[in-house]
Amino acid sequence: MDKLVPHPRFQGKSPRTHLVLTEQEVRGSYWRYGSAHIFPQTALRADVSVQLYTIYPRLYYVDMLKTCEDCSRPFIFYAREQRYWYETLGFYIDSDCMRCVEWRRKQHAVKRHMVRYTELQARGSLSRKEMMHLVDDCIFLFQQGKLKKPSLLGKIKNAALKQVPEYAGTKTLQQLLQSPARLANLTS
Ligand SMILES: [Zn+2]
Repeated sequence: MDKLVPHPRFQGKSPRTHLVLTEQEVRGSYWRYGSAHIFPQTALRADVSVQLYTIYPRLYYVDMLKTCEDCSRPFIFYAREQRYWYETLGFYIDSDCMRCVEWRRKQHAVKRHMVRYTELQARGSLSRKEMMHLVDDCIFLFQQGKLKKPSLLGKIKNAALKQVPEYAGTKTLQQLLQSPARLANLTS
């Protein structure tokens, strides 16, 4: 088996819980557990009074081994993480975890950069610090394949060359835009 994607909050093996349950009882307690790769000894009793469900609640949470749909690596959807999703965050009980935590972190980072990029690039004038932020956002979003307008990027690069020519990010952005392979990728 490939190495598990580490989770920053639920690292390592879950502690054994002391519920007296058979594997069958755990599997039978929620439809998705029936054929999933689970670790029955990690089952935690759920507080169904705070779950959002239509017909069947989840009586227990249990560590599940899953494969990330994004990077194809194995990861564990932890029982404690499920409790957090379905009791604290209020996610609907049938919503499933399809991708690893690294994917979710990347999505959050993309969102953060995109919000700031959108705000900064629409403004008429920027402070030096803001220009550096804009350059950072361009590099990050470009590398994630999220920016599709080379002309706008070129404009930002030129403004950065004027305002913050000594900034290392400015050089990086310039190099990114000079690479024909990357540009082809961008415009296709
Ligand atoms: Zn992944």
